[in-house]
Amino acid sequence: MNTVLRFQHILTPEGFERQKRLVIDDIGRIDSIEDEAGDAFDGWLALPGMPDAHSHCFQRAMVGLGESAAGEDSFWSWREAMYQLATRIGPEDLQVIATRAFSDMLRGGFTSVAEFHYLHHLPDGSAGTEMAQAVIEGARLAGIRLTLLPVLYQRGGFDAVPASRQRRFVHQRIDDFLDLLDRLSGVPLGIAPHSVRAVEPAAIADVESGAREILGDVFPRHIHVSEQLIEVEECLEFYGKTPIELLAEHVSLDHHWSLVHATHATEVETEEMNRAGVTAVLCPLTEAYLGDGLFHAAAFREAGGRIAIGSDSNVRIDAIEELRLLEYGQRLRLHRRACLADETGLGRPLWELACRGGEHALGQPVGRLEPGAFADLVVLRKDSVVLSALEDAQALDALITAGCAQDLAAVYVGGRRVVDNGEHERGLATTDEYGVVMGRLRNSL
Ligand SMILES: [Zn+2]
Repeated sequence: MNTVLRFQHILTPEGFERQKRLVIDDIGRIDSIEDEAGDAFDGWLALPGMPDAHSHCFQRAMVGLGESAAGEDSFWSWREAMYQLATRIGPEDLQVIATRAFSDMLRGGFTSVAEFHYLHHLPDGSAGTEMAQAVIEGARLAGIRLTLLPVLYQRGGFDAVPASRQRRFVHQRIDDFLDLLDRLSGVPLGIAPHSVRAVEPAAIADVESGAREILGDVFPRHIHVSEQLIEVEECLEFYGKTPIELLAEHVSLDHHWSLVHATHATEVETEEMNRAGVTAVLCPLTEAYLGDGLFHAAAFREAGGRIAIGSDSNVRIDAIEELRLLEYGQRLRLHRRACLADETGLGRPLWELACRGGEHALGQPVGRLEPGAFADLVVLRKDSVVLSALEDAQALDALITAGCAQDLAAVYVGGRRVVDNGEHERGLATTDEYGVVMGRLRNSL
């Protein structure tokens, strides 16, 4: 049976449109968009829901941990704190943490997520699909649309065997990884070789061709690349090439590939990324949180590059804040304003840019309100202090520069309302379960 949602304004690929109804089929896709003559509406201004193109949901449990100023705190010391927690998380814990992270994403304006999943094995080190199933079940309970990207992780560094605290991430044999991939079902899948640091470059090509046997030719391929300066320096030392040069030498980079972070990509590399048609997946809040640096987003964008955003560490989950920091990082770097804006303003092009990039990164018809795409959307609050008395493009400019997730009146996935006035449909159940699991995990640290 069709669902019908009526809005005073919606943002479609054609622009802002007034008084429309979305007719949604029984699998949650938009069947048609029609004029609405009545005066009863489900909301004011509907935007496509934002795809979250990079997440490690279990890291939500790191919030409040790892902020010590003792010694030289860096990405690498944060990573040690993350490992300490990760080694203790079992499948039941992960399901609860994932449900919490995914519910928070929905409240933060993200309606779909590419989960870069590397916490594969059980706490005792034994292999199985339980941890991946916990992520899938967490997404189902939260009501978010998922693309699951099992991660191939083989070594602890360019020339290092994995440490014991990394053993739950590791598949030494590609066949074991492909066996896991083959046993997963029920959600769209892709692959994620972790990085050229954690996977031998030749193995990236092998796993890509092995995955083709299971998934066909069309599936998302994601990889962390050039996030940290040390990683770039070590790669140059070990291979005589940067991570992006090395990757490009071993696989044919094209629009199926998403390069996560690419923070320290050189000008030549960003041009090459653009030519290849890869998506740059940027995670501004996490990149700032970890002290990574800034990608040349404005130049990449000006040359027509495709950008998606991800919540990555999930330390703070808010699609609007991610976009604000994406723009402000470029302003601080370039000493000018409106770096990712166009002649229509800032909010609309930025929102649309990240939605289009997210669609590519997830490999699903999301991030646009038009027939054939999923009816995943966020609805802005007309009575918001930030948005009041504004319309269309100016409302989106205000949302990006002055707003946050509290300016969302509702969030829908597949035409179903999962967040209403900031409240997720599961109410406090998610928070209560999460509190119990976190109390136990933190006590065991
Ligand atoms: Zn990541």
